[in-house]
Amino acid sequence: MPSELRYWTVLDPAHRVVVEADDFLLHHRLGRDGAESTSQSYAASLALFFDWAASIRKPWRESAPYLGRFVYWLQHYRPDRIAAGRTEVVRGPRRVNAIMAAVRSFFRHTAAVGQLDPQVMGVVYDSFDSYTVNEAERGAHRPRARARHRLSEPHSPIVNAEGEDVAGLLRAARNARDRFIVIAMWRMGLRRGELAGLRRSDVHFVPDASRLGCGFRGTHLHVVRRTNPNGAWAKSRRQRVVPADWLTVQAYDQYISERARVDPGGRSDFLLVNLFADPVGTPMRPGGINELLARLSSRAHLRRPVHPHMLRHSFATNIAEHGGTADVLKELLGHAWISSSEVYLHPSPERLRAVVNRVPAPRKDGEKQ
Ligand SMILES: [Zn+2]
Repeated sequence: MPSELRYWTVLDPAHRVVVEADDFLLHHRLGRDGAESTSQSYAASLALFFDWAASIRKPWRESAPYLGRFVYWLQHYRPDRIAAGRTEVVRGPRRVNAIMAAVRSFFRHTAAVGQLDPQVMGVVYDSFDSYTVNEAERGAHRPRARARHRLSEPHSPIVNAEGEDVAGLLRAARNARDRFIVIAMWRMGLRRGELAGLRRSDVHFVPDASRLGCGFRGTHLHVVRRTNPNGAWAKSRRQRVVPADWLTVQAYDQYISERARVDPGGRSDFLLVNLFADPVGTPMRPGGINELLARLSSRAHLRRPVHPHMLRHSFATNIAEHGGTADVLKELLGHAWISSSEVYLHPSPERLRAVVNRVPAPRKDGEKQ
């Protein structure tokens, strides 16, 4: 597109754009302000859906009654293994569910714009009839619709970066910028894309930001979604304010003076810039943060390399262990749904055992005091 905005689309076997899919993907990117990465994964999901519909010789509009077969097909089908037996699982439940979510989103859109018979929604969702446009518009009443095609996903525990891992990363860091990156993710729980998208003007590390036109007291920064040239993208639609503690502010001050030294004429408004590799002074890519953590992890000889999200999990777990309730976690982490925050409130095995052990047991007969 003419602006910096990019989106993905779906081509049919004759390399023509699939018009309905293209409409939907454009709507997602423009009308819903959706992420480019989601656009890409939606397009890939829809391409599979059209492939499958063609394989059962149905127009996609008439394929809804057979979606159960699509779920099975997704689990076992891969283009390069078409001749192989269909017993091998090539896509796990999480992946299949994500593809089905994309297909449902496509159905909702095409039904909304009159390209699909709305009756089909009754095949895709249970009790979809409780959904009305007016209710959804007011946001007062969320549709009580449950997806009918959904595999149960295995429970996967949250993997935190332990305190000693973080200490190892900080010792392995060779400059103030890298230390600031580790500390900012660990003490503020920022997502990778949020950190790489920060502008210097988002950082209000002053006791009183009212002169900057901001009403929040104390050191904090603002997480804002924008289309950035470095591809950084804040997942939350809603802006949020994250308080910064003294450790973060100190690391920031050290980074800022290092940056002024290494890149004196630097004009980039991005907070994180390349300082130790060319092109110096340009915004860091979000992927650069993964590479940095991988480098620090290996230099620190960590048993398990630390990924950006593990630092965010540690932040959330620390907050929960120090009295953070679900509403606090939701606000700090920028979650859209409180269910995402509640996972951090699950008691650890240690807490479960401690509570069980606190319940007094009857004494065994003859046991001495
Ligand atoms: Zn502010």
